[in-house]
Amino acid sequence: MSDARSGAVPDLTTVPDLVAEADLTAEAAKLDADDGLRDKRELFVLDETVYLDGNSLGALPAHVPGRVADVISRQWGELRIRSWDESGWWTAPERIGDRIAPLVGAAPGQIVVGDSTSVNVFKAVVAAVRIARAADEGRDEIVVDATTFPTDGYIAESAARLTGCRIVPVAPGDVPGVLGERTAAVLLNHADYRTGRLHDLPGLTRAVHDAGALVVWDLCHTAGALPVGLDEHGVDLAVGCTYKYLNGGPGSPAYLYVRADLQPRFDSPLPGWNSHAEPFGMRPGFAAADGAVRGRVGTPDILSMLALEAALDVWDGVGVDAVRAKSLALTDFFLRCVGAYVPQGRVESLTPAAHAERGSQVALRCAGAGDVMRRLIERGVVGDYRAPDVLRFGFTPLYVSFGDAERAARVLADTLD
Ligand SMILES: *Cc1c(COP(=O)(O)O)cnc(C)c1O
Repeated sequence: MSDARSGAVPDLTTVPDLVAEADLTAEAAKLDADDGLRDKRELFVLDETVYLDGNSLGALPAHVPGRVADVISRQWGELRIRSWDESGWWTAPERIGDRIAPLVGAAPGQIVVGDSTSVNVFKAVVAAVRIARAADEGRDEIVVDATTFPTDGYIAESAARLTGCRIVPVAPGDVPGVLGERTAAVLLNHADYRTGRLHDLPGLTRAVHDAGALVVWDLCHTAGALPVGLDEHGVDLAVGCTYKYLNGGPGSPAYLYVRADLQPRFDSPLPGWNSHAEPFGMRPGFAAADGAVRGRVGTPDILSMLALEAALDVWDGVGVDAVRAKSLALTDFFLRCVGAYVPQGRVESLTPAAHAERGSQVALRCAGAGDVMRRLIERGVVGDYRAPDVLRFGFTPLYVSFGDAERAARVLADTLD
């Protein structure tokens, strides 16, 4: 259809950009209509903003404020000290750990909630070295993901000094090549926080075990986004935060997984009274409790912890496989929209194209990324910026839609124009 034949008004469907836009908008609407997790979005407090930063701070589930208000005014205000028993405060770390367990493929009794991820990295790495050394004193190396989120690296370095070990920094893919008789423990991130690359948890865990060492996985960027399979793959220890894909709220407590058969050998470097076999015996000497409770330290931060417990209700009836399927469909679709809208050469995807290597975020390298993200946020598309040149977009399948993905790519293209 040429302009000449159809008259004075140009036929806009022949303009490539608008064709792409009309097609992708229609496709987004269809994908949203067919989305089995569609109704979950209503459980969250959201607005017109396209929120693609749930991998930094998950959105607020709408029922959480009411539950927290009850914890404060009734449990604390009225029941006061009685709530340690009557409101289940004392056992909250194990109880909430068991709520997280199915999301990371763990049977009950292996996860405790508390402290920050940084603190749990410390407990896990030192405990892993102690277990490895108890079997073989010659093991004096801690292998650390060289691309790790910085806190893990800082803590591992200190754990190495305390235990008389040497740090071996290495890219996760190169881990098998550095393992040997001297390896005590290996600390790895399940997904790279900058690029969104997913590392091979089953394969790397096997390689570490073949070398006779223990592995600690950091699940901050995968728990709640994709299946982890801790028990299935024989992971030794794992840690993760709860304020990203698990929506526990700012600074909500982290968690520690200790595989059931390792628990009797788990010798915590932070043995507080909460991990004592008889915490109210008030004994001068320490005797570790049985089970995951060994991972506890001091009095739990109840307000934050019970906000997290409430937030976990949004996972009722949700299968992690369905979350993963939607996450991959969302990141695929976003990448296609970016390819269709953004002029060639303006951005480069750092996120692997292969599904097996992709977490739940898209990282785009872009000149002036800090400025670009500031302008995106002004226009209602919230992702984040990671120095020096990365635009990061997190896809949280419970509340991000395909329409959001299309709009984010369109606003990005406009911003770069
Ligand atoms: C978010 C994140 C952390 C955060 O640690 P905190 O102690 O909660 O501040 C640690 N490690 C990784 C891999 C993360 O993504």
